[in-house]
Amino acid sequence: MPVFLSTTEADFEARFAALLSMKREESADVDDTVRAIIDDVRARGDAAVIELTAKFDRLELTPETLAFSDDEIEAECARVPPEERQALEIAADRIRSYHAHQFPEDEQWSDAAGATLGWRWTPVAAAGLYVPGGLASYPSSMLMNAVPAQVAGVPRLAMCAPTPDGQVNPLVLLAAKLSGVGEVYRIGGAQAIAAMAYGTESIPGVDKITGPGNAFVAAAKRRVFGRVGIDMIAGPSEILVIADKHNEPDWVALDLLSQAEHDESAQSILITDDAAFGQAVADAVEARLPTLARRAIAGASWRDFGAVIVVRDLAEAAALSDRVAPEHLEICTEDPEALLPEITHAGAIFLGQWTPEAIGDYVGGPNHVLPTARSARFSSGLSVLDFVKRTTVAQMTPQALRAIGPAAETLAQSESLQAHGLSVRARLDRLNEGV
Ligand code: NAD
Repeated sequence: MPVFLSTTEADFEARFAALLSMKREESADVDDTVRAIIDDVRARGDAAVIELTAKFDRLELTPETLAFSDDEIEAECARVPPEERQALEIAADRIRSYHAHQFPEDEQWSDAAGATLGWRWTPVAAAGLYVPGGLASYPSSMLMNAVPAQVAGVPRLAMCAPTPDGQVNPLVLLAAKLSGVGEVYRIGGAQAIAAMAYGTESIPGVDKITGPGNAFVAAAKRRVFGRVGIDMIAGPSEILVIADKHNEPDWVALDLLSQAEHDESAQSILITDDAAFGQAVADAVEARLPTLARRAIAGASWRDFGAVIVVRDLAEAAALSDRVAPEHLEICTEDPEALLPEITHAGAIFLGQWTPEAIGDYVGGPNHVLPTARSARFSSGLSVLDFVKRTTVAQMTPQALRAIGPAAETLAQSESLQAHGLSVRARLDRLNEGV
């Protein structure tokens, strides 16, 4: 059974704290294995990647077949049924137009001293996108990773996806094609991350690696961080729904189950100001569960990590939601906009009963790669900003240097950095000669 809590209970704080600190992820000790794999790929390049792919994915490759050829990609894409192709194109278009709004502006201005200052944004030169799992892989995740990079103007996009026993999801290859991915490698796990980070004879290294994956992929991303940038280490999915009684209990139940079916470690929480409504949603979850193909996964998630919290009023709901800092937050109240300003910590917010979170997973437009495990307190979902970097630009006029140079010289002397001070002084002296 999921946890039932009420803020009027004397022990609410302790029980809520227990809910927040639930450990949902297995911390499998994979780090030693991953370190050995990365070292091997660094030392032996293609040969190591090929051996590890034979070992873990039961696929014999050569340096020539590490990547799909253009003809192979075309042939796989041609297998996608028209209805799925059309849906994927709608998703790609909507994700692209949403992310186009995220491209940040360059700035330049002159200040009172006469200095011209600013910054400009430029894309990384190459991004590597990891798509987990062979046939069970998600084309939607492919789009959510690749489209922001494409919008950012990243000139080279490479993708790695394991193809266990040679199996590949053609829809993932179509998603890659629609989002400008030029290289697709049939490799996975830590060896794929190492190959993208360090490069091999056949796989040029990239500058940024994004995308979800299992514990081996996550550990490898942590290890290569610094050599390359990474997006985040995403944990099991979460949804929190704030709903009043003006909702269909069945709809809210399905929204809770839509995240529960991802993973046994996913977490679905309902916060409501109406105890009877909360019970109706819990009943609707029980009614729907046996009808789902993924009932074992969804049922385990709801039983072990699900929760229904009854609050005195919606302001209390918003405050509790902020303490959870959920990956996905649905506000299903009569006036969702009124509650929105009360929310500070959430990866993605969905307003009103006509905005199920599942729309955001596929075709809403915003990214579905989002911070989990309360990291929405300090981080954001994947965006164009993950694929660009900001370079500052400064230009002094002689007057500007005269105005602010002496302060730089003083600070350089106080830090005992003689050449720093002299580089300013030499110019100031020249300016003084000209007076
Ligand atoms: P994966 O691609 O992450 O991992 C497969 C690779 O793991 C294999 O190629 C192999 O190299 C490596 N591996 C497996 N066993 C190993 C071992 N004993 N030693 C060393 N390496 C080993 O695919 P997966 O395993 O199916 O996991 C997919 C993960 O991605 C799941 O956790 C799933 O929840 C997550 N996921 C998340 C999203 C999202 O958008 N957040 C989307 C899809 C999948």
